[in-house]
Amino acid sequence: MADKRKLTSDEIRERFQEALNGGHIYVCYQPQINHMTGRMTGAEALMRWDDPEYGPQNPADFIPCLEEADLILRADLFVFREVCSLLSYCRDSGHAMVPISVNMSRYDIYNNHRYVEEIEKIRHEYGIPVSCLRIEITEGSAIGGLELITSVLDKMHEIGYIVEMDDFGSGYSSLNILKDLDVDIIKLDMRFLDGEIGGRGGTIISSMVQMTKWLQTPVIAEGVETPEQADYMRSIGCYNVQGFLYSKPLIKEEFLKQSEKYDFEPQNTRAGLLDDIDAGKFWNPDSMETLLFNNFVGPAAIYSYENGKIEMLKVNRKYVNEIGMNVNEDILLTKSPVDSMNERDRAAYEETLKKAIESGEEEECETWHEVSSKCCGDDMVCIRSSLRLIGSAGEQYLFFVGIRNITAEKIRFDSLVESEKKFRMASEQNNTFAWEYEIQTKRMRPCARCMRELGLPALLENYPEPVIESGLFPAEIADKYREWHRRLAEGEKQLAGIMPLTEDRIPFMVRYTTEFDENGRPYKAYGSATEVRGYDMNWQKKTVTAE
Ligand code: C2E
Ligand code: CA
Ligand code: CA
Repeated sequence: MADKRKLTSDEIRERFQEALNGGHIYVCYQPQINHMTGRMTGAEALMRWDDPEYGPQNPADFIPCLEEADLILRADLFVFREVCSLLSYCRDSGHAMVPISVNMSRYDIYNNHRYVEEIEKIRHEYGIPVSCLRIEITEGSAIGGLELITSVLDKMHEIGYIVEMDDFGSGYSSLNILKDLDVDIIKLDMRFLDGEIGGRGGTIISSMVQMTKWLQTPVIAEGVETPEQADYMRSIGCYNVQGFLYSKPLIKEEFLKQSEKYDFEPQNTRAGLLDDIDAGKFWNPDSMETLLFNNFVGPAAIYSYENGKIEMLKVNRKYVNEIGMNVNEDILLTKSPVDSMNERDRAAYEETLKKAIESGEEEECETWHEVSSKCCGDDMVCIRSSLRLIGSAGEQYLFFVGIRNITAEKIRFDSLVESEKKFRMASEQNNTFAWEYEIQTKRMRPCARCMRELGLPALLENYPEPVIESGLFPAEIADKYREWHRRLAEGEKQLAGIMPLTEDRIPFMVRYTTEFDENGRPYKAYGSATEVRGYDMNWQKKTVTAE
């Protein structure tokens, strides 16, 4: 037998159909247990591939390959069919029908919008009640727009599927995702926790918080390996756990045997679990809210705003890290977030807070902060904050604030603006006409000298047509000049040549230099035209003759 190894992506492509037919691809089931009662509440179906030649394959390797090869839909529908077949076996043989979660890849809905129709066909074929099936989606399914995933979610909900948010908190904007995607259960992977469980922080006096709006969704803890983890989750009100502590994923026969040992207990969705949340819990360092806040949302803080005074009540570790500079949490908490801003930014920030109070929506602003730390000294950082009102009591308002450090982006942008300015000034002195051409929009912005001496407006659309029409670029070179702009759009880095300009056909050296964006697409071209003497009307170098 050959050595065990990973299949290459070509092998995965080639062997897929045979693996399906030959039973090398199959499904394992991992029980989900209520840690309080010891009963089973459900199970997750996990795909397995055991190659006869190279041995068991890791889903983390072959799933992305199947996604790339456009085979994932077939694989996922195979899993769904296996699950339905198992459930129908349970029904017919008197086993309990525990709800089984099936993973949906985001690619299942990308190219083929019929995912829901396909699983429905299979479900009906086996006559399985929809309450026995759950679909796990990830935050990644919203990549490339919310519209598609939202419509798929709506369709599934209409039919009655329970939808779970898998791997919650592994993405960047977890909080927004919960706001945007209407899921019924959240799965937290204990392996994503950074730092110890239980955690620090949260010594602040309780206040009225309605943050629980986005928490009123039951939670399953996944990847639970130790009794301590399970106990901790139980202590904060999360009873449902899935992980090696209770069971590894099991082949069908094993799973059936195991599930006979457990009583079955239906899991509540919505309400129930987190029903009795009160504001105090949010400030309690050992609450579910604190766990989520510290570990499963991006860089975030809670601010209060009262009579023009802004105070920071709670920050998570990611927030502190995002600010960088090695500042510590205590320093952040003793200062108002606006202390480090200049007058103008502070006013803008307050305006944004007021706007957020009025609109009830998320509002954004960008502010510069002077930050100092023992190791790095003083520096300026630019922060983009998105502010959302989460509660109010009398004159006091509470905000959830997500931040991003955009200093590097900002500096890059500012230096670009600066270099453009220099470029324009230099062209003034050099007897050069200069302009910028935006390749995608075909907009041209001329230098002051072009405007002054050639009478051009500050912005020309559909460039170069207006200057051809006006005769600045005469008819005989019009096509050549148009061709240049096509080449710029195709990514030409530099263009240069002598062109006769104006009615007088004065020879100019016309140049373009292209700038590319971070994806390597041509984005802007800098044009210049400098009069060249010593060339005659036929654009040949004059021979110097003695007169
Ligand atoms: P996932 O959906 O987050 O699945 C949970 C993973 O955690 C499984 O890995 C499971 O074996 C593992 N796990 C469960 N409890 C523990 C624990 O206590 N400790 C540790 N260290 N691991 C634990 P697996 O089976 O390797 O699957 C990996 C990923 O592959 C899944 O992550 C899922 O994203 C994907 N996947 C698996 N089956 C399917 C499928 O049928 N369709 C699709 N589209 N993706 C699948
Ligand atoms: Ca999953
Ligand atoms: Ca997971």
